[in-house]
Amino acid sequence: MARRPLRVGVGDLVRHPGTRHEVERSVPAGGLGSLVVGASRVDPGVDVEVDLVLESQPGTVVASGTVATRWHGECRRCLGEVVGELRAELREVFGDESEGDPDDGDFYALEGDEVDLEPLVRDAVLLNLPVAPLCGDDCRGPVPDAFVPAGDDDPDGGSDDPSRDPRWAALDDLDFD
Ligand SMILES: [Zn+2]
Repeated sequence: MARRPLRVGVGDLVRHPGTRHEVERSVPAGGLGSLVVGASRVDPGVDVEVDLVLESQPGTVVASGTVATRWHGECRRCLGEVVGELRAELREVFGDESEGDPDDGDFYALEGDEVDLEPLVRDAVLLNLPVAPLCGDDCRGPVPDAFVPAGDDDPDGGSDDPSRDPRWAALDDLDFD
């Protein structure tokens, strides 16, 4: 495997508009930089499966298909480990920016006879990682019944409690009898 497995030669495609080229790669996530969003991440040793079709049109190359991988995260309620599958559909355009259609929004740079799929694969993963994952819809947290409201735990109830808000001191003088 080449050092840059997601760099793909497209010379023939560009010279023959309307032709297609399939790209199937399995690349370690570590080669894509840091894939972390909120409380979820793709670990560097996990493979990212790239299954794309490159299709040339005059002046552009369109990449469409799927990017899939496995992510790990921390449940936002119980902080337990969560593992999930990510599958992103994408359709992105590579083009020469000087000839771009300004209404067409962003596209990736067509670099001579090559396209670099790495940035769009990385973007597809980052956009589809859950920011705040849950281990399950019914997760209620680590100890759902542990929360006890702060009660009146001072048997003396004295007004000399230094932590007591002095504004409540006036209540001590009220006589309800
Ligand atoms: Zn949970």
